[in-house]
Amino acid sequence: MRIDVLTIFPDYLRPLELALVGRAAARDLVDIHTHDLRQWTHDVHRTVDDAPYGGGPGMVMRPEPWDEALRAVSGGDPTRRPRVVVPTPAGVPFTQRYAAELAEQHWLVFCCGRYEGIDGRVVEAWADDEISIGDYVLAGGEAATLVIVEAVTRLLPGVVGNVESITDDSFAHGLLEGAVYTRPPIWREREVPAILRSGDHAAIARWRRDEALLRTRRRRPELLDRIELSAADRAVLAN
Ligand code: SAM
Repeated sequence: MRIDVLTIFPDYLRPLELALVGRAAARDLVDIHTHDLRQWTHDVHRTVDDAPYGGGPGMVMRPEPWDEALRAVSGGDPTRRPRVVVPTPAGVPFTQRYAAELAEQHWLVFCCGRYEGIDGRVVEAWADDEISIGDYVLAGGEAATLVIVEAVTRLLPGVVGNVESITDDSFAHGLLEGAVYTRPPIWREREVPAILRSGDHAAIARWRRDEALLRTRRRRPELLDRIELSAADRAVLAN
């Protein structure tokens, strides 16, 4: 997959060179390019913003640099158009399912807004997706892009060594994952649940499912309405 990021703060995207995403890029599993939007400005101040029509506080990102940038980055070949993503708090909520959908694409372009956001005509002309990473307002689209790119990259084939660690994740089955444990078996008088050390794989799987169901009911009960529950699941939740 190719990923292009357009931003006025290219250094903000440096974490993409680290850890899982950085390793995936080093192994050519993802090809990431960050571009400074200001290279598509033509005045001495390299201006990207202007006052909002209709008045009000703050500034709005002007359409011309965005349009030039998107034309340059997407290369003008209409048969190989990227999917253009604009992070915005007013967008569609980002979910694991949305990450999986984006992971199927061959090319993503992220447009990181700042100030009061990007002129609406650019979004109308170019955006395939307007995505929110949560019900709060950040200062810019860079942190949101980091979140989306990491969630998408870890779903690309070969990026995570053990595929089960993805299929067992929270949301993979519509549930939150329960607590996980490693050595030592007793730490500060707290013992790892005995079942996890029993070697009985079926019993462990059932116990994990039960923990996931109970945690989901406690923290995100609305998720339970969206999945099919077995009779055994219902019995756990009945208590
Ligand atoms: N005036 C905008 C509004 O209320 O919808 C908020 C603009 S915000 C200060 C600046 C930029 O941060 C946005 O254009 C967007 O790129 C990004 N941003 C802020 N919160 C976000 C969120 N929850 N999800 C995705 N992007 C976000």
